[in-house]
Amino acid sequence: MVYLDYNATAPLRPEALDATVAALGSVGNASSTHYLGRDAATRVNGARRQLADLLNCSPGEIIFTSGATEANNFALRAAYARGGVLVTTAVEHPAVLEAARAVTAEAPDSLVVLPVDGEGAVDFKPLDAVLRDREVGLVSIMIANNETGVMTDLRPAIKLAHEAGALVHTDATQYVGRLPLDLAEVEVDLLSLSAHKFGGPQGVGALFVRRGTSLPHRPLLVGGGHERGWRAGTLNVAGIAGLGAAAEAARLQLAQEAVHTARLRDILEAALTAEVADCRINGARAPRLPGVTSITFPGVPADAVLAAMPQVAASDGSACSSGAQSPSHVLLAMGHSRDDADSTVRFSLGYATTERDIERAVAAAVDAVRHVRSIMAATAEP
Ligand code: PMP
Repeated sequence: MVYLDYNATAPLRPEALDATVAALGSVGNASSTHYLGRDAATRVNGARRQLADLLNCSPGEIIFTSGATEANNFALRAAYARGGVLVTTAVEHPAVLEAARAVTAEAPDSLVVLPVDGEGAVDFKPLDAVLRDREVGLVSIMIANNETGVMTDLRPAIKLAHEAGALVHTDATQYVGRLPLDLAEVEVDLLSLSAHKFGGPQGVGALFVRRGTSLPHRPLLVGGGHERGWRAGTLNVAGIAGLGAAAEAARLQLAQEAVHTARLRDILEAALTAEVADCRINGARAPRLPGVTSITFPGVPADAVLAAMPQVAASDGSACSSGAQSPSHVLLAMGHSRDDADSTVRFSLGYATTERDIERAVAAAVDAVRHVRSIMAATAEP
C-alpha cells in the first residue's frame, strides 16, 4: 500500500506512539492531587509546553480539545457571542462553514462568505467593504486548504480586522507541523489544530486563544471546569501526550520534511502531467503546502480512478466528508464544473513518504486513468 492521504490523517510518529503508550500504561486523572494524578498532569503540562514551543506561544494560551472540529466550533461560537458579523471564506472546511452557519442561524445576514479566484486565493476586497460598512465580530480564514493545499497570507487581513476591532481565527489544521508558524508574527487571536494531521493521535487537538482576547464565556462543554473552565471533561492524557510528542518531533524536523515532501510532490506532478494528457493541477499558481496536489483528470471520475488503483491510498475531494457524494465545494468555489470536481484526485504526502512511493503511485495512477478511459470509450461506442 502506498499511503498518500496525509491530509486525511498522517501516520503516527514513533515519538507520539511511545508517549501515548507510556501514558496509557499509567493510571492517574490529571485533576487528582495525589502522586499519580500529578504524574498525569505532568504529562499534560509537558505536552502543552511542547505545543506552545511549536507555535511560539505560551502554554497558558492552549486549550486541549477533541480535535479541530471542536476547536473551530468553540472558537466561532464564543467569538460570535461578542456580537457583530462573522466573516469567513467559501473554501473553509465544513468544520468552519457549518459551524458558521449554525451560530448565525437566527440571523443569516450576519454571515459573510468571501469568494476565491480560480487559483483558490481569497478575494479580500469584500472584507474591506464589510469592515468599513458593518460591525464585524470575527474573521475566520483558513491558513491552508485541505483539498488543494492553497495557502493564504493572513497578515494583511489580520491588520485590517484588528483596526476595525474584529477578532481573527484561523483553522490551521493542515498547516501546523508542516510549515513553521510563529504566533508572535502571525497575530491571530484564535487558532485551531488537530494532532493527527502532524503525526499525533486522532481525537485530540487544541484551540489557541491569545492572552488578553476578550471572549464571552461560551464553552461548548460545561461540567467539571477543566481547561480553566473552557472545556469540561477528564483530560485525554494519552492523546495529549501523543500530541505533544508529535509537536516536538515536528518542530525539530519540519524544515527538512517540508523540503522533502515538496520535492516528492513536484516529481509526482511532473510525472503525471507528462504522462496523462490534459490533466490539470488545481491551485498550481498559488502558494501551496509542500505535500499536497489536487489533480483533475477531465472526464475521468475520481472514484473510478481510485478503485482502479487499490494499492494507492489517496482521496477524491475531501475525505473528511467521508461517504458524502456531493462535489467538492472548494473546487466549485474556484469556478470548476461539477464534472471536473468529480474528476479530481487529491494526493497528500508527508514526512514518511519515499521516492519509491511516488514511483509506484505514478505508475498506478497512469494505468488507472488509462484503464478508466478505455472502459469509458468502450461503453460509449454504439
Ligand atoms: N479543518 C481542516 C482544514 C481539516 O482538514 C480537518 C480534517 N480533515 C478539520 C478541520 C477537522 O479535523 P478533525 O476531524 O480532526 O476534528
